[in-house]
Amino acid sequence: MNTIQEIINEIDKILEDAGNLLKSSENVNELESRFRNFTGKKSKLNEVLHNIHSYSSEEKKIIGSKSNEVKNLIGNIYDAKKKELSNVEHEKLLTGCPIDLTIPGKNIEKQHKHPIIAVLEEAVDFFSSMGFEMVEGPEIETTHYNFDALNIPAEHPARDVWDTFYLLNGFVPRTHTSSVQARTLEKKELPFRIIAPGRCYRYEAVDATHLFMFNQMEGLFVDKNVRLTDLKGILEETVKNLLGARKTRFRPAFYPFVEPGLDLDIECVFCGGRGCGICKNTGWIEVIPCGMVHPNVFKYAGIDPNEYRGFAFGMGFDRIVMLKYNINDLRILYQGNLDILGQF
Ligand SMILES: [Zn+2]
Repeated sequence: MNTIQEIINEIDKILEDAGNLLKSSENVNELESRFRNFTGKKSKLNEVLHNIHSYSSEEKKIIGSKSNEVKNLIGNIYDAKKKELSNVEHEKLLTGCPIDLTIPGKNIEKQHKHPIIAVLEEAVDFFSSMGFEMVEGPEIETTHYNFDALNIPAEHPARDVWDTFYLLNGFVPRTHTSSVQARTLEKKELPFRIIAPGRCYRYEAVDATHLFMFNQMEGLFVDKNVRLTDLKGILEETVKNLLGARKTRFRPAFYPFVEPGLDLDIECVFCGGRGCGICKNTGWIEVIPCGMVHPNVFKYAGIDPNEYRGFAFGMGFDRIVMLKYNINDLRILYQGNLDILGQF
């Protein structure tokens, strides 16, 4: 059995070896693996401590405190050396492969706004010039604002016209921006003119003219003496502004939230009115459903329909973009293909 002094000497020798080896390490990896050899479970120091059970408790104390002291010293040597090596490696990285400031930068090709956004901004500008204010509403809507407040009560057959997604909690991804009408009528001071652009969702099979998500722009003009002729005048101007001079016509249509209801058609841009597959051989394309606000819609919002009147419209915005650029497949607007989108 070794004497206490011999064990102390052995521990000192471990410290000396560790100091020499750690200090001479050439990189961080080497340093770390050497450090593990001196402190890990299978290290010499642990071996020494493993055999101290046969010594007296007084002697155990001396060996224990000595070995702790040496462990700390080895740790300090390791820390200092690691810092030194890290600095050297960092320096090497900076000087070894210097940044070449003369290399030309990557060419980022300049693109433009997406056609839907570009036309939408154009429309917002146009309506602002006529005193319309832009408002927004939630895309996830209650059935109250999406249907009931727009004169489409539950169980009424008119509700089937909208191919609606229902969420498990009873809410609906709005089927039209008309829900913003109902919300605005409830809280905005009269009279007002608003537009509400935004995304809408319907349970549609996707094809060239239908998507499950589309952009719509709602418009609502409420005042004491708004007439159908105001609606006609403003919407004809809108078409002229967004699509250029086109032949237009109004024809009667049914929408539960307007009375009377109309559709504004323009002459088919694809066939010039002769009739083609896209206009279903009618020569006309429906672009803006519209009409005078139904008295019930005013009543739901607490407005007296004998005092106020208004007109409303809901433009299928993607369709306006299709017509403006003669695009015959709606899907290409959403495919993110820069070769195609870059043309507009
Ligand atoms: Zn046509």
